[in-house]
This record gives sequence, structure tokens and C-alpha cells, in this order.
Amino acid sequence: MARALEREDEDQILDAIAKWLDRDVKDKVLELDHADEYPYEMVEQMKELGLFGATIGEEYGGLGLSASLYARIVTMVSEVWMSLTGIFNSHLIMCAAIERFGTDEQKERFLPRCASGELRGALALTEPNCGTDLQAIRTKAVRDGDDYVINGTKTWISNGIEGGCVALLLKTDTEVMPRHKGMSLFIAEKGPGFTVSRKLEKLGYKGIDSAELIFQDYRISADNLLGGKEGRGFHHTVGGLELGRINVAARGVGIANAAMKASVQYSQIRETMGKPICEHQAIQLKLGDMATRCEAARLLVEQAAQAYDRGDRCDMEAGMAKLFASEAALENSIEAMRIHGAYGYSKELPIERYYRDAPLMCIGEGTNEMQRIIISKQLVARNPA
Ligand SMILES: Cc1cc2nc3c(=O)[nH]c(=O)nc-3n(C[C@H](O)[C@H](O)[C@H](O)COP(=O)(O)OP(=O)(O)OC[C@H]3O[C@@H](n4cnc5c(N)ncnc54)[C@H](O)[C@@H]3O)c2cc1C
Repeated sequence: MARALEREDEDQILDAIAKWLDRDVKDKVLELDHADEYPYEMVEQMKELGLFGATIGEEYGGLGLSASLYARIVTMVSEVWMSLTGIFNSHLIMCAAIERFGTDEQKERFLPRCASGELRGALALTEPNCGTDLQAIRTKAVRDGDDYVINGTKTWISNGIEGGCVALLLKTDTEVMPRHKGMSLFIAEKGPGFTVSRKLEKLGYKGIDSAELIFQDYRISADNLLGGKEGRGFHHTVGGLELGRINVAARGVGIANAAMKASVQYSQIRETMGKPICEHQAIQLKLGDMATRCEAARLLVEQAAQAYDRGDRCDMEAGMAKLFASEAALENSIEAMRIHGAYGYSKELPIERYYRDAPLMCIGEGTNEMQRIIISKQLVARNPA
């Protein structure tokens, strides 16, 4: 359960994270990112800060933060290195599913270990043949006594190598119609039959592991079926998407801000034709648009997170925030590269990283094409003729 914090307590949490980013992260990002190296030391520091339990209820050892405060943390961390947020984001979405839909026994068994960061999780939904159309998944769980036996492949799973468990979306009935009634979510810890087949190479989002996972006669106890009932997996998964989209949108704001701030600084230092480039109108037009995008994206994220915290339906708000903030990140990263000229293309500055990281925000947690469709459908539903 999220708890309401005094402004002073919120500031204290944000201040501790800002200090950590400045002291232990900022200067190491370039090297780790270019080497595509997992930030083990930073993960230990994130445990200390309580980030792995940020939105988990206090009764399970978490901080119980609201989505609004959590989104501000995600933005702050993303301004410095977006990859770090991936290490706790999908973990926390898995935890939110356990806390919302799990049995009491499942909450007691998983959440305290997750809150401390001892057990770190992931979301295993996507398969080689499908991402958007999740109802087309083929990985199957077949009941065998008190267990289920699982076979299939999941791909693009963030934290798939370094994490200890996954929220695993499976087909428990391949015949039933509509298809979503045959889907179930399991909390699956690593064990015999659950292997990482390969680390996936990618354009950006370096440092964090993206993996293909193979399940070959992987046996799991029926006690790990979320909520204890088959056929609810699609509902459990979709239930986490609003928070997931707010998270991705908050990352987008972080990248958009970082690109804008770097450009404001650089344009005052770099001179052409006898004056700083920020005095050329062509650059002023860019800076004006970049700052406006940042502010609009931030406000959309805030609005969606507040609706989520009130318990309101917010698929349209989360969709708008995710769509706008991710496109803002992409546009600002390109504009920052133009403003920085050749230095924007250089691996000595972070601009090229923003440019490599931003497109992921347009794909993950439902592509931006799908967000437009969700927004449009809700718009019509909320405004009947
Ligand atoms: C770095 C990275 C990390 C990821 N991490 C995870 C993770 O942790 N866990 C996980 O489960 N997945 C993860 N994913 C997968 C991600 O969620 C999917 O890539 C995403 O959902 C899109 O699915 P897809 O790639 O299969 O594209 P597809 O579904 O094949 O879509 C292809 C194109 O068609 C469009 N399209 C599809 N259907 C429609 C439609 N009905 N109407 C209009 N347009 C449509 C899409 O918008 C897109 O442009 C990750 C991906 C990346 C790249």
C-alpha cells in the first residue's frame, strides 16, 4: 500500500538519491555504458537506498511510496543513466502484481526478499513470435499433480540474467475462447529447466541485461500460480501496465531533461560568428521547443501518477504520458545532437547515449502506435455521442 508522506520526508528521499547519483554514479556511467557492463556496485547501493522496495508496502519491508513520488525518482535517475531504472522498474511491476493479486502466502514468501533486493525479479511476457499481441503466446504450462510443467521461450527479458525470478505469462489452456481466458501468471524462480540461452545485443539501454529464456520441462509448484486460480494471467498483466507506462514516461522525461539541460549549457559556451550559439535564433527555436516538451511531458506524467494514486482508471492518462514523454525524449535527443554538432556524435559526451536510449521508450510497455489506439478508444468511450 502506498503511504502519504510529508513534503519534508519526500524531499529527504529525493535528496538522498540526488546525492548518490552525484557521488557514486555520474562519473562512472560513460565507462560502464560503453563497456555494456552490469553495474554490480550500484545495485548494492540501490539496495541500501531501498529502491528495490520503493513501491512495496511497508508491512513487507518496502518504502510504500506513491506512484507520483516514484515517478520523480525514476526521472531523476534517468537523467543520469536510464539503464539503472530498468533494474528496479520491471522488478517493482512484478512485485505490484504479487501485492495486488497474490495470495497471502505468496506475498509473505516473495515480497520481503524482493523489498530488500535479495531476490530481484523481471517480467517475462514477450516471445519470439509476439510482443504486442500477448494473447498469441505459445509457452505452455501443463498441470501434473501438485506441479505444472512448463515449455517454451521468452525473449527480450530485462534482468533475465541477473534477476532471480520472473513473473511468467503462460498458456494454461490453449483451446478456450476468448484466448485471454487460457492465460495465467506464475512467479517462477530459477531452477532446473529454466535457463538463460543468450544475452541479447542492442543499440542502447546498455549495462542492463536483456535475455532470451528457455523453459524445458521446467517444473514449478502450483503454489506459484499468482492468486491460486488459472485464467487470470492476462488480467494480472494488463493490471500492471498503467504503472509500467507511467514508469516508462518518467524515464522519457529524464532523457528529455538531460538532453535539454546539456544543450542549454553547451549553447552558452560554444561560439560561432562571434557570439554564443544560444544567441542564434535557429538554436533558440530548438531550446524553446525542447524546454516546452520537457515541461508538458512532466505534467502529463504527474497527472497520470496522481490518477493512479487516487485509484482512478488511468489507461488514457498513462497512455498519453507514455506517448508524449517518449517522443519528447527522442526529439530532444536528436535536437541535442544537432546543437552539439560533432561533439553530439562523440562517445566522449552523453548526447549519443540519449540518442541510443530514447527509442526504447517508444517501443517498451506497449508501442506508441498502441498508445494512440488506447487513447482514441478511451476518448470515444468517455464521450458517447
Ligand atoms: C531493450 C528491450 C527490453 C525489453 N524488456 C522486456 C521485458 O522485460 N519483458 C518483456 O516481456 N518484454 C520486453 N521487451 C519487449 C517489448 O515489450 C516488445 O518489443 C514490445 O511489446 C513490442 O512487441 P514486438 O517487438 O513483438 O513488436 P510487434 O508486436 O511485432 O509490433 C511490430 C509493429 O507493429 C505495430 N503493431 C502491432 N500490432 C498492432 C496493431 N494492432 N495496430 C497497430 N499497430 C500494431 C507495433 O506498434 C510495431 O510498430 C523489451 C524490448 C526491448 C527492445
